[in-house]
Amino acid sequence: MFKKILIANRGEIATRIIRACKEMGIKSAVIYTEEDSTALYIKKADEAYLVTPGPIEAYLNIHRIVDIAQKIRADAIHPGYGFVSENPKMAELCEKRGIVFIGPPSSAIELMGNKLKAREFMKEHNIPVVYGSDGPVENEKDAVKWGKMIGFPVILKASGGGGGRGLRIAKNENELKRYYSLAKSEAAKFFDNPEIFIEKYITKPHHIEVQVLGDHHGNVIHLGERDCSIQRRHQKVIEIAPSLVLSDKKRKELGALAVKIAKLVHYINAGTMEFIVDSNMRYYFMEMNTRLQVEHPVTESVTGIDIVKKQIEIAAGLELGIKQKDVKIKGNAIECRLIAEDPQNAFLPNGGRITAYYSPGGIGVRIDGAVYKDYVVPDYYDPLLLKLTVMGGTWEEAVNRMRRALDEFVIRGIKTNIPYLQAIVNSEDFKKGYFDTEFINEHPELMDYANRVDPADLVIAIASAIAMHEGL
Ligand code: ADP
Repeated sequence: MFKKILIANRGEIATRIIRACKEMGIKSAVIYTEEDSTALYIKKADEAYLVTPGPIEAYLNIHRIVDIAQKIRADAIHPGYGFVSENPKMAELCEKRGIVFIGPPSSAIELMGNKLKAREFMKEHNIPVVYGSDGPVENEKDAVKWGKMIGFPVILKASGGGGGRGLRIAKNENELKRYYSLAKSEAAKFFDNPEIFIEKYITKPHHIEVQVLGDHHGNVIHLGERDCSIQRRHQKVIEIAPSLVLSDKKRKELGALAVKIAKLVHYINAGTMEFIVDSNMRYYFMEMNTRLQVEHPVTESVTGIDIVKKQIEIAAGLELGIKQKDVKIKGNAIECRLIAEDPQNAFLPNGGRITAYYSPGGIGVRIDGAVYKDYVVPDYYDPLLLKLTVMGGTWEEAVNRMRRALDEFVIRGIKTNIPYLQAIVNSEDFKKGYFDTEFINEHPELMDYANRVDPADLVIAIASAIAMHEGL
């Protein structure tokens, strides 16, 4: 087994990986920038190395990261999610320099990293994909031709897109014309790849994804599915496991299909097949994420399998040690992403000092966090503060537990999406499990939560009112 792992990431996911290392008796090393110098994960790791330049560049510098790994005699690098995790060059460089990359081979990242390539590959192997353009759409005329052929609404996608960016829905020809050149120039700017393709936009679908694990010995299994339909602007906000809408038959089919895809691409380590599922429960391959997902805790909660430990064991060459029939789904799990943002002010990220922090606990509550009292949330990074995951014997119990856990949370000094998450979890439709990817758009009233007055803010307001009155 490895003696030391370098974690090429930050925030909550670095903490998550450090925890797995500690339980496995492996030393953990992290990198951090000056902007991150007060971050919690640095304190939790056994070793920490300052990298420049911040705030972002150093986390993306694959040569420097591999140099550090070699210098500190780390056996392996865990990339987490984001940053270098889906950079095939990173995996390749590790392969060349004799450091183990805790993830799939570079060839699998390369193939699946491009949405269009992945889609064409699936079509060749008769895996269902959403009806759409054959290859990239080169100009506006072609876009209109495809739009008419597919039938509106359609969705424009950037081949190199990710994280919900680079997607645009066109309801008619005019919108398609308007969005096409916009999407193309944005794609060139943000993803360094102007390639665009078009798909039928499926209305009221579910985003359902299947977690897979494959080892170096040809064993591939799946750990069931997650429903990530509660999304805002195509970005996940709340994820659950298992899905509330799949029948056992569909669940089995989807799991088997995910394993089939993993085998087709010679996949090794943890990966996720994302499917879009229409209201008739027809499913279509959307994309594959060749890394650990943000929402992996819900799967860990219902299967009892530690996905990060499995990633490390697989990378070290061990056998999976679990057969498909050993994977049992028990209960229901829900994860909320707690974000430093102000939902009532266009969801703008909201950095600053956390002046009070009390986290919930008790039965069935898990926190994957990265913050503490007096921590100053930097403005430069993803505003995800932590993930709150609850586990219940039933869906109803899980919902009640999430409501209770959110109520227990106290984070002061910065605005967070906690009140918005509370509004979602308390809504009748959510409680009944009636939601698809359009839930948030269809429920604008959830934004009308009353602003909870923070007692600490109230004291300051009263004190300054008195001071003003007294002419101080
Ligand atoms: P990204 O990689 O940026 O996350 P995805 O391709 O995974 O982009 O899509 C993100 C979300 O966009 C999906 O979860 C789904 O809600 C929506 N979406 C993508 N393709 C379609 C489609 N053909 N029809 C309806 N919704 C879609």
